[in-house]
Amino acid sequence: MNYQEILTAIQSELSKIPSEGEVASYIPELAKIEPTKFGMHLYCTNSGHYSFGNSDERFSIQSISKVFALTRAMSLLDEDLFKRVDVEPSGDPFNSLVQLEYENGIPRNPFINAGALVVCDILISNIKNPKNDLLDFIQELTNNKEISINREVFDSEKKHSYRNTALLNFMKAFGNIKNDIYLVLDLYIHLCSIEMSCKELSEAFMIYANGGRLLYNNKKILSSEKIKRINAIMQTCGFYDEAGEFSFRVGLPGKSGVGGGIVAIHPGQYAVTVWSPPLNPKGNSELGMLALERLTTLTGLSIF
Ligand code: GLN
Repeated sequence: MNYQEILTAIQSELSKIPSEGEVASYIPELAKIEPTKFGMHLYCTNSGHYSFGNSDERFSIQSISKVFALTRAMSLLDEDLFKRVDVEPSGDPFNSLVQLEYENGIPRNPFINAGALVVCDILISNIKNPKNDLLDFIQELTNNKEISINREVFDSEKKHSYRNTALLNFMKAFGNIKNDIYLVLDLYIHLCSIEMSCKELSEAFMIYANGGRLLYNNKKILSSEKIKRINAIMQTCGFYDEAGEFSFRVGLPGKSGVGGGIVAIHPGQYAVTVWSPPLNPKGNSELGMLALERLTTLTGLSIF
């Protein structure tokens, strides 16, 4: 497969398409990002790296961090984790409160904000210094000690966390948050404000394409059974109320963030990341979704 040729074709095809999306502005610091940034990086299990555009520039990973938080929680805990957070698609926006009321404070899945907040609560109860632990974990996945947070994005989200604070208070009232809500919020925002490039995200997500093993040293990070489950949750819940549409168009498990990044994996084949900041009304990168649709169409390969 000539991945570089395919990526170059995607870049020239999509650069001509006028974007109707809008850069996220409810976190004011994210609104400052240049909307024309566009990069893509594919990391193949047996033939290495392919890329175009701004693929080495770091951006705010936002909700993509929810996959790392869940992975860390699943490596520490068994099935009990899923008594506090379900694994069903929500069909609602990522920051919605409505389902929590009639589902007794149990979030639909770990990739909506409510679910990720419960996962953060679990990490606080089980890890001494979860902020450092999670950064160490991502640094190990990428074999790169420089990955860190963007302090301005962290401070900016912290000042505008009304919905996430509401979600935490609501779940606390149902007994599904055990720690102080501001401690949980702090960890959640810290994880959202991590910055990584398309290349670094593709390297980190290689464990989901490679049965739980790091490609660079063959170390087993997570059992194949747990990797299967995380990939299944990405497939069904990775794009909130657009998870069906992403599955329908792209046919790969993946996860998006409001920083404009999307990561997707093809088990046994590759991890791929695309970054374009303008978002569609569901909060997913408009060009990112198109680029991944072109990738699985032009390669003729998806998981289906
Ligand atoms: N930090 C963002 C929030 O909590 C993450 C949302 C996202 O990337 N979808 O609203």
